[in-house]
Amino acid sequence: MSPGFHPLPGRARATWQDGALRSEAFGDVYFSTAGGLAETRHVFLEGIGAPGCFAGRQRFVLGELGFGTGLNFLALWDLWRKSAPPAARLHVVSIEGYPLSTADMAAAHAAFSELASLAAELRDRLPPAVAGFHRLRLDGGRVALTLLYGPVHGMLENLAGRVDAWFLDGFAPARNPEMWTPEIFRRIARLSAPGARLATFSAAGAVRRGLAEAGFAVEKRPGFGSKRECLAARFTGPMAPDEAPPWFAAPAPLAPGTRVAVVGTGIAGRAAARALTDEGFAVTLVGEADGAAAPPRVAVAPRLADPNDPYGRFMAQAFLMAQAALPLAGGSLHLPGSDWERQLEFARWLGWGDDLARPVTQAEAAEIAGISTARGGLHFPLAGLPDPAACLPVDGIARAADIPDDAAAVILAAGAWTAGLAPAAEPALFANRGQVAFLPPMAATRALRLPISFGGHVTPAIAGVGHVLGSSYGRWNLAENPGGWSGLRREDQDGMLAGLAQVLPGLADGWRTAPLAGWAGLRATTLDHLPFVGPLADAAAYRAVYGEDLRRGRRIAGPPAPYLPRMYALTGLGSRGFQTALPAAELLASMLSGAPLPVDRLVAEALHPARFLVREMKKGG
Ligand code: SAM
Repeated sequence: MSPGFHPLPGRARATWQDGALRSEAFGDVYFSTAGGLAETRHVFLEGIGAPGCFAGRQRFVLGELGFGTGLNFLALWDLWRKSAPPAARLHVVSIEGYPLSTADMAAAHAAFSELASLAAELRDRLPPAVAGFHRLRLDGGRVALTLLYGPVHGMLENLAGRVDAWFLDGFAPARNPEMWTPEIFRRIARLSAPGARLATFSAAGAVRRGLAEAGFAVEKRPGFGSKRECLAARFTGPMAPDEAPPWFAAPAPLAPGTRVAVVGTGIAGRAAARALTDEGFAVTLVGEADGAAAPPRVAVAPRLADPNDPYGRFMAQAFLMAQAALPLAGGSLHLPGSDWERQLEFARWLGWGDDLARPVTQAEAAEIAGISTARGGLHFPLAGLPDPAACLPVDGIARAADIPDDAAAVILAAGAWTAGLAPAAEPALFANRGQVAFLPPMAATRALRLPISFGGHVTPAIAGVGHVLGSSYGRWNLAENPGGWSGLRREDQDGMLAGLAQVLPGLADGWRTAPLAGWAGLRATTLDHLPFVGPLADAAAYRAVYGEDLRRGRRIAGPPAPYLPRMYALTGLGSRGFQTALPAAELLASMLSGAPLPVDRLVAEALHPARFLVREMKKGG
């Protein structure tokens, strides 16, 4: 299997039988009826040497095959929080191809009252059962759970990271051989940190041999309950080289507690500051007090694109993270006129059901909207229209006017102004002026219940503002015109009304003579509409080091990328920053700490700030 999009194989079909949760598809139980928690502690926690293996570890990374009910995770989290150093961080990456319903999980958790509060926190935060990477922060941010929903082979291929210990828990090998193949063991070895531990309930000969062939020293231990034996192992092989090409490789990770400065207090800076704090860094947010960097409301709705492209996977993940982290409510309608059927198809490939994206006829759209519409399209029940000021508060994070001297990393998150802060990186970053109109509520518009997008977007009336109609687009040369972009333009407002007239003619007519009112700002955009997330290249040094080989299409194993010392970017969020900032910030935090990435490795490469430079060099530039 190769990295990329892998649909979710299915949903769990689980039933209760004699007090055990049983998978109908695999004919096996999720955990022992002889005491699931005791089994987990014996086989898995003791198998990896916990809690001793946490000693002195500021960051511990566990990988699991088979998330199931989350019992192993909960037991690990419980033990870790009781025994790890206070400032430590726990990362758990767990693969699941057939997610259980929250109700089945709750029923399974009910048997383990000592884990009740952790279990409730987990269930509360679980992502919908849709394909892809899902990163949740638990325990006040210090526990990162990255759920990889998809088939085990494909998700292991997608994962980038170094794992300190593994739980192999994928139903009995005889009933589920796919989870125990030599390729899986090789892939696990490839993702293992030196000396990584491994535990599994199975002692099957094929498992022992497969692990040994992949570089693990395997030992038999007494099994739990009626099982005679189980296995514990330690990775003795050499650490595999980084899989990313050298020009995209991550710089050396920084130790927990290291001072990191984030330049920019907009949504990118705030998301970065929060994710880096969660990751255990000492963060200073640098910049003016938060200004009016966003209009009074931002429409946050899915951007559905082909998940076979990194763009489609990243945008899907971004919406789901926003839905979990921001105050979204009320839903939205998407009535673009054409192409929405294709978008619905992408949603279905991802496993999104009607709860996330639902086709609606013209009559249904009108019913939901409260006003008549010219066409049908998609209803996004979980979308929303948050107040930017209520999104991602950064209370408790240190603020400064300048970059502190002791900052070991500087994250440039200053939107369209970022390019001017790191000219040596030559980031292909553009300023794009966007204007929204504030329009007075009228008899015909007051009934509008939710935001509608159609290319542009229009919102219900907002107190003190009116309806917000957006947005215009126009390249802005910030180097030549550092000011003047915030002034409102009549032609922009007229253009937006003309777009609205195609979908909601009744509204557009009434507003034709509305006074010019609104807000204008600059977006930071890139040519492929994906943000820049990661270390900034020294462009001249890149050309010198890689230019010739890339032009000739040669394979290159090194040398390490000449990055600008301590400089990183999180910018280029374009029009959807309130969504994309979240996975972007988690990605940046994981890159800095050396933790497993919260996105698949092709998405990480698609977001690398040096990607345009590398493409240019490949073409001989
Ligand atoms: N560790 C779990 C717990 O603490 O509850 C129990 C895991 S259960 C024994 C095995 C899990 O592996 C199931 O949830 C099942 O859906 C998952 N699984 C089985 N085959 C899979 C595959 N090919 N790809 C991904 N997940 C798979």
